[in-house]
Amino acid sequence: MKITAITVYQVDLPLKEGRYSWSNGNFVEVFDSTVVEIETDSGLLGHAECCPLGSAYLPSFARGVRAGLAELAPHLIGQDPCNLGQVNRVMDAALRGHPYAKAPIDIACWDILGKATGQPLYTLLGGAAQDDVVLYRAISQEAPDIMARKIEAYAAEGYSKFQLKVGADANDDIERIHTTRAVLKPSDLLVADANTGWTRHEAARVVGAISSLDVYVEQPCLTYEECLSIRRRTALPFVLDEVIDGPGTLVRGIAGDAMDVVNLKISKVGGLSRARLMRDLCVEHGLPMTIEDTWGGDITTAAIAHLARSTPAEFTFSATDFNSYGTVDIAEGAPRRVQGRMTAPDRPGLGITPIADALGAPVARYS
Ligand code: MG
Repeated sequence: MKITAITVYQVDLPLKEGRYSWSNGNFVEVFDSTVVEIETDSGLLGHAECCPLGSAYLPSFARGVRAGLAELAPHLIGQDPCNLGQVNRVMDAALRGHPYAKAPIDIACWDILGKATGQPLYTLLGGAAQDDVVLYRAISQEAPDIMARKIEAYAAEGYSKFQLKVGADANDDIERIHTTRAVLKPSDLLVADANTGWTRHEAARVVGAISSLDVYVEQPCLTYEECLSIRRRTALPFVLDEVIDGPGTLVRGIAGDAMDVVNLKISKVGGLSRARLMRDLCVEHGLPMTIEDTWGGDITTAAIAHLARSTPAEFTFSATDFNSYGTVDIAEGAPRRVQGRMTAPDRPGLGITPIADALGAPVARYS
């Protein structure tokens, strides 16, 4: 089988809540997502989506996805999409870095491999390990009482795990964490995610002031070394996210006892091939994961669901149903949340079909 064309679409994904805010005053109101369709000489199509969390979160941005695809596409025409190792070697030889631009190519090729073999991706990624996966809800950064009310509303919808967006003024964040923990049941999980937003002295104050609470601390500071410094000052369970950007940093974190949970974002690490490798390394070392992405709609949510469904439940700390945050559907057959959980489709590949009207006219086509 050969890749004959790569078509690129841009879609706007407005938020139901109107705005998503996180550390350092960052926010997004309409996400800019890129959808890729790979055509083959067999007639099979593969699809994928990549949606950075704005331009200030990771070294990735929406127009960078499309610029990267323009660089990569000429090298990919004629390649066998079912040879995932070769597809990734070709991409890595053609463009240094930029894993987020390579991710939608890798994922779309996995979609084709699934369709060519008649298997859902969760089967190809290791086999079904659970029937459905537990979800967390991210709580956009606002005043403490507003965040507490939103947590109560999402708990009523069936969520039991919450990720609080902190990483702002330390005094305000201490109040956010105490106020929201107080409205939760003892069995509910609360993660205070600073998204790199604190300096060490601020993080040290926060972990000291919440030390009596049942709370996880996620990515307090910008660098691995700063996070490790805070990790060594607190007994609270510790999550790393932004600094774990590939197998190398994951191995370093495992060897350094730097975290209890890893946040594995598929596009951050270059697609499902490397995400699967990292998932397997985490399972091998007893490290649970939140399996998710930077952001996205129906197609990203499907990719998350397949990787999570093929991960044992005890290592799936949580996953994300990004398609429930937005107002626009871009694919049929995508996972839908039921009582705080979702499952991956049993159909071949990702098991989704893009909605042509939602994608609109292509912004680029390479053949
Ligand atoms: Mg995070």
